[in-house]
Amino acid sequence: MNLVNCPRCKLMFAKKYNPLCDTCTKAEEEIFEKVYEYVRENPNQSLPQVAEACEVTTKRLLQYVRDGKIEATNGMNGDVLCSQCQTPIKKGRMCEKCIVETNTAIKLMKKDTSQSVGYHIRY
Ligand SMILES: [Zn+2]
Ligand SMILES: [Zn+2]
Repeated sequence: MNLVNCPRCKLMFAKKYNPLCDTCTKAEEEIFEKVYEYVRENPNQSLPQVAEACEVTTKRLLQYVRDGKIEATNGMNGDVLCSQCQTPIKKGRMCEKCIVETNTAIKLMKKDTSQSVGYHIRY
């Protein structure tokens, strides 16, 4: 059994799959559901407006979009930017163009190295 401190409430818990304890995992899920519903019903609100209405930080909202959990709405246009070229995007970290460029770069890199080890790039 792997006992760790929950990063959210600092309680000791047995870590299985979730990085947070059961109580916090549930609380986090409830927050996300609230945000998800709100964004769906209010597609014309900007990212800071949604953050305020749902009582979450803009950082957390941005993380949801980066993780692909929610898509940036019309109202959020320009609030989420490609991490490479600053083009407005709907979800993830990079725009289509930069994803293609990065993938190409990775392919070229792989060609160069004869031994490719278990190496994963997350967007
Ligand atoms: Zn916790
Ligand atoms: Zn880009």
